[in-house]
Amino acid sequence: MSKKTKHSAAPRHTTQPRDIDPWLAQATRRLAGTDYPGVNSTTQRILRHAAASPDQRATGLGHRGAAQLMLQQFDAVYAALSQALALTLGDAYLWYNRGLASRFTIRFGQAVRDFERAAALESDPCWCGSGRKYKQCHLTAEASMRRDRS
Ligand SMILES: [Zn+2]
Repeated sequence: MSKKTKHSAAPRHTTQPRDIDPWLAQATRRLAGTDYPGVNSTTQRILRHAAASPDQRATGLGHRGAAQLMLQQFDAVYAALSQALALTLGDAYLWYNRGLASRFTIRFGQAVRDFERAAALESDPCWCGSGRKYKQCHLTAEASMRRDRS
């Protein structure tokens, strides 16, 4: 396979944010299937893409952090989730996982604050608009998907 990366004259990349969705779906599937290196490569592709929206980046970073958490790459988790939290503040899952990463990288004060933030958000109404608390709605579904190994 020859690697042709030179096409400086013609910008043939007109990818739209919606074109990123299948990659996010792939990252989700790989995460559920415990293919953590696969999650890394898929999310890297998403994050490198200029068309990815802030939400898509945050989701990609969240998946990346979750995969790295499983691989016990805690410094990497901390970095990925700190980036994600710079894009979106409302996701309890990101706070919770960064809390874990903080604890494993000896940032104990940060860990406590992150867990408190996660707990507060879990009592907020779910993002899906069901009217139920997040922890009684999508958190369970998301957590069981993410936890389905072991
Ligand atoms: Zn929900």
